[in-house]
Amino acid sequence: MNRKFFFSKASLIFLLLSFCQYSIAQSLTESKIKSGVHKYSDLMKISKVLYPGDSTIDVTYYKLNLTLTYSPNYLKGIVTVNAKSNLSGLNSFFLDLQNAFTIDSILSNGKKLTFIHSNAKLNIALDKNYNAGEIFSVVIYYEGVPGSSGFGSFAFGSHAGSPAIWSLSEPYGASDWWPCKDTPADKADSSDVWITCDKSLTAASNGILQTVVDNGNGTHTFEWKNSYPIAQYLISIAISNYTVYKNYYDYSVSDSMPITNYVYPEDFSSSKYTIDKVPNMIKIYSDYYGQYPFLREKYGQAQFGWGGGMEHQTITSLGDFDEDLEAHELAHQWFGDMVTCKDWQDIWLNEGFATYSEAIYFGTTQGENVYNQMISQDMQAARNAVGSIYVQDISSVDNIFDYSRTYAKGAVVLHMLRGIVGDSTFFKILRSYASYPGLAYNVAATSDFESVAEKIYGSSLSYFFNEWIYGENYPHYQVSWNSHLIGNNVYDVTLNISQTDNSNPLFFTMPIQIKISTSVGDTIVTVLNDQQDQKIDISINGEPNYIDFDPNNFILKDISIMDSIDLTKPKTFSLEQNYPNPFNPATTIEYTIPVQYKGYIPVKLIIYNILGSEVDVLVNVNQSSGTYRVSFPSKDKIGKLSSGVYFYALFAGNYRDIKKMVLTK
Ligand SMILES: [Zn+2]
Repeated sequence: MNRKFFFSKASLIFLLLSFCQYSIAQSLTESKIKSGVHKYSDLMKISKVLYPGDSTIDVTYYKLNLTLTYSPNYLKGIVTVNAKSNLSGLNSFFLDLQNAFTIDSILSNGKKLTFIHSNAKLNIALDKNYNAGEIFSVVIYYEGVPGSSGFGSFAFGSHAGSPAIWSLSEPYGASDWWPCKDTPADKADSSDVWITCDKSLTAASNGILQTVVDNGNGTHTFEWKNSYPIAQYLISIAISNYTVYKNYYDYSVSDSMPITNYVYPEDFSSSKYTIDKVPNMIKIYSDYYGQYPFLREKYGQAQFGWGGGMEHQTITSLGDFDEDLEAHELAHQWFGDMVTCKDWQDIWLNEGFATYSEAIYFGTTQGENVYNQMISQDMQAARNAVGSIYVQDISSVDNIFDYSRTYAKGAVVLHMLRGIVGDSTFFKILRSYASYPGLAYNVAATSDFESVAEKIYGSSLSYFFNEWIYGENYPHYQVSWNSHLIGNNVYDVTLNISQTDNSNPLFFTMPIQIKISTSVGDTIVTVLNDQQDQKIDISINGEPNYIDFDPNNFILKDISIMDSIDLTKPKTFSLEQNYPNPFNPATTIEYTIPVQYKGYIPVKLIIYNILGSEVDVLVNVNQSSGTYRVSFPSKDKIGKLSSGVYFYALFAGNYRDIKKMVLTK
C-alpha cells in the first residue's frame, strides 16, 4: 500500500516536509534515548500479541457473492466460508464482522445454524461436532451498509459524475464489509468473488473473470475466480464505468499473460503512457525476484478514489497511474501478496520490500545514479523514523504505515544487507525468500526472512537484524585518522571510529568500507566496526592523503571525519586560533590532545553565540592523542547563521580553553 502523498520519487514537497519534520522527530527520538530505552529483546517482549482470529479454525476457501447498489448505498451478501477444524469436537466458532450488518441466516449442509452477532464477532453454532482436520462449510446471508475504518475500507464514491465503489481492507477493514477471519496469518487456499451491479458499471476483482451473466433486470454479475492462496485483506472489489484496456506480459516466446487495466474514461488518455510500462516492470521484477507469482491468472490495475495505491492480489487499486506508484504496488505481488507478513508488526516485509523495489525498477530503467538518488531519499526519510522497524504497537494504523519507519527505513535495511552480503548473494536471498517452501504463497515473519538470508549467506546476521529491525535510530560516527611511514613507502593508517548518541543499541556493529586515496592510487578495505570506540590499523602502499568512509553509501548514518594532521607527538593540549578569521562562510578550528593520554578521553568542542547560548556541538566523542581539525559551521548550517562574534570552547579531560571568532557577511 502506498499513500500518494508520501510517494512521488522526485517530490520536492516531500523532501521539504521531511526536512521540517526532521528536527521534531529527532528531538522526540533523543528524549526517548535519554530516558533510557529497553534493549531490543525487551521491546519484543512488550509486543502486542498478534490477532489470530478464531485460532480453532483454518480457513480454506472464501466465496463472496455480493450485490451492490449505489442509490441507495447498500450491500447484500452471501459469503461461503470453508474451514478445517483445528480441534477435535469443534461445535462452534466465530468470524469477524462489524455490528452494523443484519444477518438474515446462516446455513450449513442446507440446515439453518444458530448464531450470535455482537462485538464485531459472529459466533456460529455448527450442525455437529467436527474432528481435527475435518472440513465444514457455512453460508452467511447478510445485508447493510458497510462501515469504514483504516484508510477507508469500503467506499461509495464518484468520479466525473459517475459512481465508483471500492474496498481497501488493509489492515483491519475486511470485516467492515464481509465476514472473515480477519488476520493475514491464515490464508485461504482459493477464493471467488461474484459482484452484481448496475449494467452501466464494470466490476474488477482477484483472479480470472469466468463470465459476466446478464440478469435481465438491469444488473449483471461478474464472476471472478482466484486459484492461489490469498490473505483476507487482499480480496477486493473495484466498480465503476471503467474503460477496460489490456496489455500482455510475454513470459516466453509463445506464452503471455494479460494485464487488464480498469481506468476512469476521462483519465485514460493521460494514463496510457505509464500503463504501457507495466509489462516491462513485470519483466524486470521477474528477472530479479523470480517469475511473476500469479502467472496462471493475470495482473490488473483498477482505478479507485483513494489517493494512493493498494496491492490487491492480481488487481492493484490505484488513485492514478503514476509510474512510482505502479512500480511499488506491482512489487507487492511478490512481497506482500505471495509472501505475506504474518502479522502487522512485520509490515516492513511488505512495505520495505516494495519501497526498495522502486529503486530497483528505476535503477534498472534509468541507471545506477537514479538507484543511488532514491536510496539517498529513503535514507533521508529513514532518519526521521521513531521507534524500531518492528512495530510493537499495531493498534494504530499510522504506526503500522509510518512512511519513515516501515517503508523508507525498511528499504534502507535491504540496501544495507546488499552492502554486507554483496550483489549476487543479495538477489539470491530475495529469490530464495520468494520461493521458499512454507513461505511462498504463505506468510512470513522477520525471523523467517532472517533465517533464509543466513542460510544463503552462510553466516549469522543476527547482529544486523537485532540492530536494524528491533533496535532504533542509526549510527552517528565520529572518525579521525592519521598515518605514519613504517617501511619502504608503506604507511600505517590509524582509524579511530567512535559512535555517539545511541542507547538501543548502544552502538551498531557493521562492516564498513573505507576508501583510502594515496599517492599511488585508491584502495577500498572493509573493516568490522564492532566496538563503540575502536582503533583500527591498516597498512597501505603510498602516502595516504584522503579517506572516504562508506564511499558507496551503504550505511544509514551521520558522520564527521577529522583528519589528524600532526604526525609529531604532541606534548600539550592546545586550542588554536581558527583560520580564516574573520570568516565567511566557514572556518577551521584546530586542537591537540597530548600524547600522555594513551587511551581515549572525552572531548567536546562547543560553539556559543555572544549571549552565551550553545549554537552547535562540533565534537562530542572520545579521542586519543593527535591534532584534529574541524570545520565550522557544519555543512547543514552554512549560510544559516547570522554574522557576529562566536566563541568556541574545548573541553578535553580537565583541559578547558575558549577562543573568539567573527563571522562576517
Ligand atoms: Zn506498499
